Amino acid sequence: MILKERIESVELQIMRYLMNRVNLTEKEKYHYLNLEKGFEGEIKFDQLIENLQEEKYIINDLLLEVNNSFFQIDTIIILQGVIHFFEIKNYEGDYYLDSEKLYSVKTSREYKNPIIQLKRTETLFRQLLQNLNQNFLVEGHVLFINPEFTLYQAPMDQPIILPTQIKRFFQDIKKMPSKLHDGHRKLAQQLISLHQPNYPFTSIPSFNYEQVRKGITCVNCNSFSLLTKGWKCICSECGQEELISKAVIRSVEEFKLLFPTEKITTNAIHKWCKIVQSKQRIGYILGKHFKKVGNHRWSYYE
Ligand SMILES: [Zn+2]
Repeated sequence: MILKERIESVELQIMRYLMNRVNLTEKEKYHYLNLEKGFEGEIKFDQLIENLQEEKYIINDLLLEVNNSFFQIDTIIILQGVIHFFEIKNYEGDYYLDSEKLYSVKTSREYKNPIIQLKRTETLFRQLLQNLNQNFLVEGHVLFINPEFTLYQAPMDQPIILPTQIKRFFQDIKKMPSKLHDGHRKLAQQLISLHQPNYPFTSIPSFNYEQVRKGITCVNCNSFSLLTKGWKCICSECGQEELISKAVIRSVEEFKLLFPTEKITTNAIHKWCKIVQSKQRIGYILGKHFKKVGNHRWSYYE
């Protein structure tokens, strides 16, 4: 049973929008692509554990705090006898481990060693469980999901699951019968209630309204080449059609995430969407889909 679904992090969503609307530096683009790749790996992992028949609770994307230290867990699987937690890596290509560090063979680029990250998480997770007076057995794993990943000099005694071992790992889990009781449910609920929704340490580049390109983007190909025709907007790049009202609402959601302190007003969204000529139309769409606060000139939507 999945108790907490996985969705894109706010950081990834914002970076997607910025990728489209701002000139990012190479480093920022690289960071964005890494986020995209990481998320893709996590989705692949979700598909993998979908067919696990055992009684289990699955909790995704938890950000927890213990003694002022934050730690993030990609996935927790609670089984009868053990809590597994996973750090999922979607690295592709040849890598090697050299004294505590992870390198790409091709580019020699150094990566954070996920085992060190995992050990930190494990320590903090155990502390948290202790604080909750829970003494379940905990096992952490770094799982490399990408079949095109090879790790040279991989130590044998480390909590690593390589692509060629994933199938066997889950077969072994299947061999252990699992029956959950109230204690498991209580633990799962406690963990979810402790989730911190706002990750304090993201690497989103700073930007302001003026820098950000305005206009509605194509829902299919992200281009700005949209024309309005009747009730629809049509992309001149890929031919995609979308109802204007839908496209405007989508753009409002983007605006809200990029500028959380700005008010959603007819003027602001008219300027933001750019291609919808009529202000009345924008006002009508906002009025239909959002809650109006205040009256006349100073009204805004939530
Ligand atoms: Zn398009």
